[in-house]
Amino acid sequence: MTPYLAEGSARDALCEIGRRVWQREYIASNDGNFSVLLGPNRVLCTPTMVSKGFMDPAELPVVDLDGKIISGPKPPTSEIRVHLAIYRHRPDVRAVVHVHPPHATAFAVVRRNLPKCILPEVEVFLGEIPLVPYATPGTQEFADITIPYMQTHNAFLLTNHGAITLGSDPFEAYYRMETLEQYCRILILASQLGDLKELDLSAMADLLKLRAKLGHCDRREHLPPQEWCTPSVPPGGVRAANLVTERAPSQQQSASSDPVAWRQSLVEEITRRVLQRLRYIREDTEKGSER
Ligand SMILES: [Zn+2]
Repeated sequence: MTPYLAEGSARDALCEIGRRVWQREYIASNDGNFSVLLGPNRVLCTPTMVSKGFMDPAELPVVDLDGKIISGPKPPTSEIRVHLAIYRHRPDVRAVVHVHPPHATAFAVVRRNLPKCILPEVEVFLGEIPLVPYATPGTQEFADITIPYMQTHNAFLLTNHGAITLGSDPFEAYYRMETLEQYCRILILASQLGDLKELDLSAMADLLKLRAKLGHCDRREHLPPQEWCTPSVPPGGVRAANLVTERAPSQQQSASSDPVAWRQSLVEEITRRVLQRLRYIREDTEKGSER
């Protein structure tokens, strides 16, 4: 089990992360919130209504896992509920970073699942990145809707809102946010140049092996290779994937706890295959005209 970070180091880390996300324009005004689990029932978090770029280590409050204030001159972030839900459901997680980075949030506001099988570093270090359905920020509903997606993933897009990353320490969570935002930026730039080209399945098999070797679980280990690159990520992580692969194909749709997500996933997979087919046809036509 990951050791708890000393409180002084945790305070300094959250202030440094605040400076970095403000400098990188992942937040505006008083946006964003981060936290560190200091012990079995103590969470250090950012205060509400302050710019995270200019925090003083002494102003960060400490709360328990029920959200009760233990210490601090300022009240905790209004989005503390989702942090607490994550610590309750992911015993390996010691830090949470939530910001609104522009490129990642652009995907979240058009409600587009991120493409997979594009960049090796993303596949190995982030794995799948679910798009969590919308709920009003700060509410218990927002925390509850995130839980099924957070079981085995470490980076999430929040529909019409922003992004969350998790880590075994504050900087791991922060670096995952940098990787996520960089990935989204590259996807947007690349889409202006042409079609995205997926890695082939043998390259993906190597990357998934590498990911497993580094100790990260990935539900795609339980899926047939032709489903590794399907953009959507259903709620439930590895356990849901096991459930689906153990059932007959005709039962798969009802196996999901979220039929809307599964319908969306089906539509996206059909669209992806049609577009892929159209690309082949176009490439064949172009090759023919060159001859
Ligand atoms: Zn937010």
